[in-house]
Amino acid sequence: MRYDYLIVGSGLFGAVFAREARERGKRCLVVEKRDHIAGNVYTEEVHGIQVHRYGAHIFHTSDKSVWEYVNRFAEFNQYINSPIARYKDELYNLPFNMNTFSRMWGVATPREAQDIIAGQIADLQISQPQNLEEQALSLVGRDVYEKLIKGYTEKQWGRDCRDLPAFIIRRLPLRFTYDNNYFNDRYQGIPVGGYTRIVEKLLEGTEVRLKTDYLANRAELDGMAEKIVYTGMIDQFYNYCLGVLEYRSVRFETEELELENYQGNAVVNYTEREIPYTRIIEHKHFEFGKQPTTIISREYSSEWKRGDEPYYPVNDGKNEALYEAYRARAEAENRVIFGGRLGSYRYYDMDRVIASALELCRREL
Ligand code: FAD
Ligand code: UDP
Repeated sequence: MRYDYLIVGSGLFGAVFAREARERGKRCLVVEKRDHIAGNVYTEEVHGIQVHRYGAHIFHTSDKSVWEYVNRFAEFNQYINSPIARYKDELYNLPFNMNTFSRMWGVATPREAQDIIAGQIADLQISQPQNLEEQALSLVGRDVYEKLIKGYTEKQWGRDCRDLPAFIIRRLPLRFTYDNNYFNDRYQGIPVGGYTRIVEKLLEGTEVRLKTDYLANRAELDGMAEKIVYTGMIDQFYNYCLGVLEYRSVRFETEELELENYQGNAVVNYTEREIPYTRIIEHKHFEFGKQPTTIISREYSSEWKRGDEPYYPVNDGKNEALYEAYRARAEAENRVIFGGRLGSYRYYDMDRVIASALELCRREL
């Protein structure tokens, strides 16, 4: 065996594991099917602007050890995510906070906003929200739900809000203060110079083979290492033998515009159903860029089918049961360790992916 570990995937999970293993004297080979490293956090520089090719990535965490870990590989700027929601000609601040309610109803105090919300849901009698619609209504009332949640969510997930789990909407903060910070976390920022550089540093000194699909070269690659760390799709590893796990995919329509500032904010969500994209990202605003041109990406959400990029796992009951069946198989493997967002069929933020890779290192290395 030439290697101790074959690492499938050069995203954050694979790269953190590779780095820690190499530091402990392990011999590692990383294989990556794309023509670049860094997985979905990949950024590329175009005319001085860091373009987030697989969707906007804002680093945020409350885990001090993860924050200190990433700061070894990059300097982070002071970016705070404060998206704007656009419903027809009306503009609102996100997440849902006093600025949103004040614009929606002309109220000034938390009590006034709470009274309006209570009045809008009084007749609904929701004690235990059973789905996303009930959860959203019980948190923010009917106006905010109809204007800022319903259309966006149905575009994003391609499903009726009554057929979606309540927890999706609980990811968003709800505050009765005038605070537009989208996240509640203690630490936040964008790495100066982009995310790809972080992954380059993590992989320094490790052999990486790009454009190499593990599943297409399994026989040869399996014979090269004692153990395998696999960060691809768990169902694909098993050739979908128990069934296909569902995902949502996203198509990014990216263009460069001959103007300095297109929308004045990094993220603008389009919450009405009739506009086909969910949001527009203007990449330069993540880094307070002053370049003469600007690059924007419109995001179109779609149902994933084989061959598409998998983005958001659809963690409903049916898919969870299927994932559990794959997980049981995975646990019985003695040479293969599954990790990362695709290996565990979870929507994991970057900090959780890094924390779980470091946790694996503690157990394994
Ligand atoms: P990935 O980055 O997906 O890496 C897996 C790698 O494995 C890929 O490069 C893939 O090509 C490779 N691979 C798969 N199969 C094979 C194979 N058979 N052979 C070889 N290589 C293979 N997190 C945040 O913290 N903040 C955000 O703002 C944020 N925004 C997001 C926006 C979107 C649209 C999405 C989808 C996710 C976002 N995330 C965000 C989550 C973040 O992208 C993930 O936490 C992180 O990228 C996961 O890293 P990973 O290594 O697990 O997976
Ligand atoms: N959401 C919404 N309106 C918005 C933004 C978000 O209804 O303007 C809902 C939507 O259901 C989405 C969920 O909140 O799936 C979580 O939003 P988040 O911004 O975390 O989604 P992501 O950035 O992961 O796409």
